[in-house]
Amino acid sequence: MPFPSRLLPLALVLASTAAQGAPDAGAIGASATTASSGLEPAFIDPSVRPGDDFFRHANGRWLATAEIPPDRGVWGVSGELEERLRLQTREILEAAARSNAAPGSLERKVGDFYASAMDEAATESKGLAPLKPALSRISALKTKADLATYLGEELRADVDAMDCTNFRTSRLFGLWVAPGLNAPAQSVPFLLQGGLGMPDREYYLSTDPTMVETRTKYRAHVEAVLTLAGIEDAAKRAGRIVDLETKMAQVHATRLESLEVKNANNPWPVTEWSRRAPGLDWARFFRSAGLSSQPVVFAWHPKATAGLSALVAHEPLESWKDWATYHVVDRRSVYLGRPFRDEAFAFYGRVLRGTTEQAPRWKRAQDWMNELVGEAVGRLFVERHFTPRAKAAASEMVKAIAAAFVRRIDALDWMAPSTKAEAKSKVQSLYVGVGYPDRWLDWSGLEIRRNDLVGNVDRAVLFHLRQQLALLGKPVDRTAWCMLPQVVDAVNLPMRNALSFPAGILQPPFFDLDAPAAVNYASIGGTIGHEISHSFDDQGSLFDSTGKLRNWWTKEDLVHFQASGAQLATQFDAYRPFPDLHVNGKQTLSENIADLAGLAAAHDAWIGTLGGAPAPVVKGFSGDQQFFLAFAQSWRTKFREPLLRQVLVSDGHAPDPYRAQTVRNLDAWYPAFDVMPGQTLYLEPKERVRVW
Ligand SMILES: [Zn+2]
Repeated sequence: MPFPSRLLPLALVLASTAAQGAPDAGAIGASATTASSGLEPAFIDPSVRPGDDFFRHANGRWLATAEIPPDRGVWGVSGELEERLRLQTREILEAAARSNAAPGSLERKVGDFYASAMDEAATESKGLAPLKPALSRISALKTKADLATYLGEELRADVDAMDCTNFRTSRLFGLWVAPGLNAPAQSVPFLLQGGLGMPDREYYLSTDPTMVETRTKYRAHVEAVLTLAGIEDAAKRAGRIVDLETKMAQVHATRLESLEVKNANNPWPVTEWSRRAPGLDWARFFRSAGLSSQPVVFAWHPKATAGLSALVAHEPLESWKDWATYHVVDRRSVYLGRPFRDEAFAFYGRVLRGTTEQAPRWKRAQDWMNELVGEAVGRLFVERHFTPRAKAAASEMVKAIAAAFVRRIDALDWMAPSTKAEAKSKVQSLYVGVGYPDRWLDWSGLEIRRNDLVGNVDRAVLFHLRQQLALLGKPVDRTAWCMLPQVVDAVNLPMRNALSFPAGILQPPFFDLDAPAAVNYASIGGTIGHEISHSFDDQGSLFDSTGKLRNWWTKEDLVHFQASGAQLATQFDAYRPFPDLHVNGKQTLSENIADLAGLAAAHDAWIGTLGGAPAPVVKGFSGDQQFFLAFAQSWRTKFREPLLRQVLVSDGHAPDPYRAQTVRNLDAWYPAFDVMPGQTLYLEPKERVRVW
């Protein structure tokens, strides 16, 4: 997944844009409405030598003048595209809300949901009333057995360990329904660790002064939310809640551990959970979660599962009730009246992301709908903004880059024939979704009321859970998507051996039917190659062409691959955005390998389109210059410091500026920009990392 702005857990994005304050009109800059062609000479800063800092060379003049909009923590090319898509989606949602379409129709549900989300006056007048049933449910808990039933009732399908990766849920556990690791033809349930209100265990445990300060602010936030909800002894309870979450954080797996698929292959029979993770009454939990008829449930985080379960037994019931109460309110704060929204923004927006202003309501409403009924919105979006011609052209590029990848595999001198054969079979059996899923979801079971925002939200989340539960034990649909058609992103689904390229990213400037081939191949082509290469990186190489967790590499090949990876990790470890914080080469390794392999395959595929002829000069740039500049400009991004720090700590991707520097590993980049020894990015040919 290439774009950090999309990589934060959606809940965080929602919370960060939450709460109101800005007027609903005129919030979008002019740049949002114009699409550039993918290579913009005006952005280049000739005073920075390409060999010293290619990102700054390609984007320096833009960096000098660009301003991050007040409602965002990061700004750049994907943000601009997102804003354009937002305006297009706004038109769709407003039209649906006005349409008075037939009751039960997709357009009517979307329109009614949007109307409920825009009705700010209704949220004010209802106050805390929509939460009353959920709060009384918690008050009624009398025993740990009741608590187990409650925790099971609260389970939602809100995490995703490998596809649209999201390890974050404030519920004690999160459910992910996916192909089985050992028998990928069938869907199985995975339980992932949860329970934290802040993004990661590091926020609770790190001694870094910024983190310590964030922790203090979190405690104040918890207290403020409880106070707003009219709960007595808010300060004391907030202390207990944060203490409980800190204990959860202590047993949580780290981000790196979460990414170790091999640790996650724990198909525990449901009857054995009480023995393997004693503490929580699992029989009750699974019964109320709708999972008791499953033969096995996979424990993605076995140690954390045991640790959290033990906490249920050892921590006082009152602390758990406080914790549950806080999260019932906090999760819905953004949908409530102004004091709640403001408090949510103050912490999730200002403190965690450095955002200075709340997004206008129509944007927040759109975010909620993408989160909750996103595919329904996406269906209306692609009908209007993704042409069959674009779909055909993008599909052709995917084919050309996949073919280039196969040629590169063939040319590797270090890889054993057996490994090569499986690698090629993986590319050749890839299922590639372009634009939108082949089959649309059936929304008929979801009730939407025009005047009930919190109810719509709760019903949509529950609808999603039921849909996911209904997949269990059924044959896996390889064509299914985890991503919305209208987002600026792309994804590799290793257990399905499938890729998805949403209509939202197949738009200018990433993909433009009128742009030069070099530009399209560098920009969207780099992303296509990136996603293909995920099939073969440290994660993808764990899965064979059928999606089964099976090592198909010879030992020697793996050693070679890991050595190249270590070299790349060292390269990225050396990037230091702050004196006290550097890019984590190991944490970002898969994505950096994907960038490198993707760029190399896209370059090959583009050269292939020339059929031996020289590339046409465009705007004074040679073909290779167009290619590499377009690549670096596709990472044109500016961060606010808190979000950049958050990305460095918890994201699997390096920040965009460093991703642009990937070019230094390609031989063709050197002559194109006269890069010489002694320049910052210069690498001796033997130091250039060549993974694929
Ligand atoms: Zn990726």
